[in-house]
Amino acid sequence: MKDYKLDTLCVQAGYKPKTGEARIPPIYQSTTYFYEKTQDMADLFDLKSDGFFYSRLANPTVAAFEGKVAALEGGACAIGCASGMSATTLAVFTVAGAGDNIVSSSAIYGGTYNLFAITLPKLGIECRFFNPDAPAEEIEKLIDGKTKMIFTETVANPSIIVLDFDKIAKIAKKHGVLFAVDNTLVTPVLCRPKEFGANLVVHSSTKYLDGHAAALGGVIVDLGNFNYKGNKRYPSFNEPDESYHGLVYADLPVAFGTKCRAQMIRDMGAIMSPQNAFLSYIGCDTLALRMERHSENAKKVAAYLSKHPKIEWINHPSLESNKYNKLAKKYLPKGQGGMLSFGIKGSTEKCAAFMEALKLITQETHVADVRSCVLHPASTTHRQLSEEDLKAAGVPHNLIRLSVGIENAEDIIADIEQALDKV
Ligand SMILES: *Cc1c(COP(=O)(O)O)cnc(C)c1O
Repeated sequence: MKDYKLDTLCVQAGYKPKTGEARIPPIYQSTTYFYEKTQDMADLFDLKSDGFFYSRLANPTVAAFEGKVAALEGGACAIGCASGMSATTLAVFTVAGAGDNIVSSSAIYGGTYNLFAITLPKLGIECRFFNPDAPAEEIEKLIDGKTKMIFTETVANPSIIVLDFDKIAKIAKKHGVLFAVDNTLVTPVLCRPKEFGANLVVHSSTKYLDGHAAALGGVIVDLGNFNYKGNKRYPSFNEPDESYHGLVYADLPVAFGTKCRAQMIRDMGAIMSPQNAFLSYIGCDTLALRMERHSENAKKVAAYLSKHPKIEWINHPSLESNKYNKLAKKYLPKGQGGMLSFGIKGSTEKCAAFMEALKLITQETHVADVRSCVLHPASTTHRQLSEEDLKAAGVPHNLIRLSVGIENAEDIIADIEQALDKV
């Protein structure tokens, strides 16, 4: 599968039936699996052979989805999780414990921000935030001997800041720190973080991968390009794991992926359900086509809004005037995704009036599915944040987030126009 182009992988990767078997991955709605020989089961428990024995650890339908995403990201393996949040949580836990820290961009998804700023510190894991626009020297200062991960988003939700991969990759490489990227908003169709120095990718598959607002899910992709062996920053990869008869993860071909599944999925159990894996797998079939259309439509809507007298500012990396246009040209040449944000001139009440006047585009706490939708983050997803934190997250009070769907662009623009007329 490796040599095929991305749009082919979207359709074909992850599952290949044997003769007489179902053409698409069946939903293996079973918690457990049958084996004739005791030794076969024992080998599975010892990680000596591949196979399924209990659906909290692995399931054939989930494996099909994992295989597809791993192929798309060019990774060594992928792990399907119950949600995007559980994917990020388990990714952090695989490398960090009490007394450790991670270094993260402050421009990240609201749920991830809460996890890093509030929940992880309660467990003894500190998160040090940096402004993604800050110079490398400033970001570098946050790293010390206990730093286990640098975390970023390719295109940040909802601030739509494009990641400067080179800047972060250089820092990560210099210090031997794992470079993790949440690639949810662009997907591997528009950007493969591996090509720009990332070591780990997480996704909320709830968004574009599923693409139809049908299934919650997340996925962790071990890109297989980080060397844990002898790296003093990662003792838990270099010391024997007592819960696996002294297994040393750094000695394995897929160190992170194996540790994540064998320890974190086993102990915390946030695995993806077979039903959601099935829906997400099918969703990915059309991912390449959808991302192209989402990007095209968003570009047209952004161009329209940029000329509208009632709009104070508009943020989409496709616009020449956009602060991140140069980075988008470098890292997202095929398209910049369907997410854009803009500010309506005047008070925040105007945001509500505009959104309520929309007829085709709906108000939802969701992004990145086939249907266009809007949200006012300051009063919803980001309402727990203080004024100062909102600023740090790049979310001004009049920001409206618009996730542009794959409807006809003329209909989307006409709906926005009639709603703006009423404001
Ligand atoms: C939605 C989202 C998440 C969280 O995913 P869930 O599937 O809702 O848990 C994480 N990161 C980004 C960028 C998101 O958009």
